[in-house]
Amino acid sequence: MSKTAQSVWTNCLSFIADNISPQAFKTWFEPIQAVKLTDNALSIQVPSKFFYEWLEEHYVKLLKVSLTKELGENAKLVYVIKMENTYGNKQPFTEKIPSSNRSQVKSQEVDVPTKNKNPELRNPFVIPGIRNVKIESQLNPNYSFDNFLEGDSNRLARSAGLAVANKPGGTSFNPLLIFGGVGLGKTHLAHAIGVEIKDKYPEKTVLYISAEKFTQQYIESVKKNNRNDFIHFYQIMDVLVVDDIQFLSGKSGTQDVFFHIFNHLHQNGKQVILTSDKAPVDMIDIEQRLLSRFKWGLSAELQHPDFETRVSIIKNKLYRDGVDMPEDIVEFLANNIKTNIRELEGAIISLIAHSSFNRREITIDLARKIVDNYVKHTKREVSIDYIQKVVSDYFQMDVDTLQSKTRKRHIVQARQLAMFFAKKFTKASLASIGSQIGRRDHATVLHACKTVDNLTSTDKQFRKYVEDLNKKLTL
Ligand code: ADP
Ligand code: MG
Repeated sequence: MSKTAQSVWTNCLSFIADNISPQAFKTWFEPIQAVKLTDNALSIQVPSKFFYEWLEEHYVKLLKVSLTKELGENAKLVYVIKMENTYGNKQPFTEKIPSSNRSQVKSQEVDVPTKNKNPELRNPFVIPGIRNVKIESQLNPNYSFDNFLEGDSNRLARSAGLAVANKPGGTSFNPLLIFGGVGLGKTHLAHAIGVEIKDKYPEKTVLYISAEKFTQQYIESVKKNNRNDFIHFYQIMDVLVVDDIQFLSGKSGTQDVFFHIFNHLHQNGKQVILTSDKAPVDMIDIEQRLLSRFKWGLSAELQHPDFETRVSIIKNKLYRDGVDMPEDIVEFLANNIKTNIRELEGAIISLIAHSSFNRREITIDLARKIVDNYVKHTKREVSIDYIQKVVSDYFQMDVDTLQSKTRKRHIVQARQLAMFFAKKFTKASLASIGSQIGRRDHATVLHACKTVDNLTSTDKQFRKYVEDLNKKLTL
């Protein structure tokens, strides 16, 4: 049987999977698609330039070994980067970069439209002598990489942050956008990057600013009629960190001025680091042209830390505060405060305070009382997202798989179960459920609900799924 891109890549994948952790495999290899095989060159499509750089840096040997096994000594690998279309064209464009075995690659196919540079901004305003003015970076030295503990939930963002700190403006992660929920470490990580840069490159002008303060300064500058000075000031930064950019939503004047500053910095190879409580796609009332800029670099999410990471964050904090706490209490805290690291720290601090003020030992009972103040016990409404997560976890697949177009039986069943529970536990309409679970229509959802009903009464194994999931969702 002759080889196809797909068959070659499938074999490579099984070799690769045997040689790296499941987590790494899932993150870095599952999203890849084999697209072409010619002679002994395999083209694989990766989601972004960042992805490509990461593969080249961490997995090029593994890729080479696996591909050589399949295609012989002269095997070549070609990356096809699927880029987001930010230029208003209907056709997505791709960029092809040969892998680092460059000598083996004959032709280098590059096909990237030149960025649409704004001609008005080519001539930056110049303020004589301003380079000599020392600019306070506003960084908090207590937020460092050393005390930003690594876990699955933050690995990508943390590594990208380190890469940026090593080569500010010199990676494709520009801007680097760190996003995630409240108290998950965005501000900490943003400072850590700035602190690290200052440490490595003391001559660089670094500035940390919250979007809120930026907005105030801007409004002030308009009042005082020195809007240009405001712009000049920001345009001389080598590294600009803007925290909580969701604050700019609805503020079109500030967005406009930020757009110009951003373009200027970006075109001059200066590094921009942004944080936001939402992913770019979910930001509201932010101008499209600004949003598309955010997507030029890398958006890295800080997710909820898993149990191990929570435990190590607690232990690290206790260690730095010089406090001893029994293991079972540490675990109790980690088990009960899950969604916000700031709250986790708050609970530890009040626990320590209570015990020292009242000269009481730190006990589970005391911990329980404190935790009650931090965790709201309101009965949470089950969302469609949550249902999809629970169902896919149960069947050990990810949500993307659950939503995919495949007709594989077990995946179809999982999807139907998610639809069934969405109907059961939420007030959403059939149409809305369909659109949220893999963009299906209302008839598909209706059919899913009927199928689940039928199978529940005829198939014992299936009934067990329904019961298990029901339990998990009503916990
Ligand atoms: P955000 O800006 O996302 O709301 P912060 O950066 O203010 O969150 O983080 C909240 C608290 O949690 C800070 O005290 C921070 O030091 C701590 N924190 C967050 N992530 C980590 C981590 N990975 N390791 C150690 N501490 C962390
Ligand atoms: Mg913050």
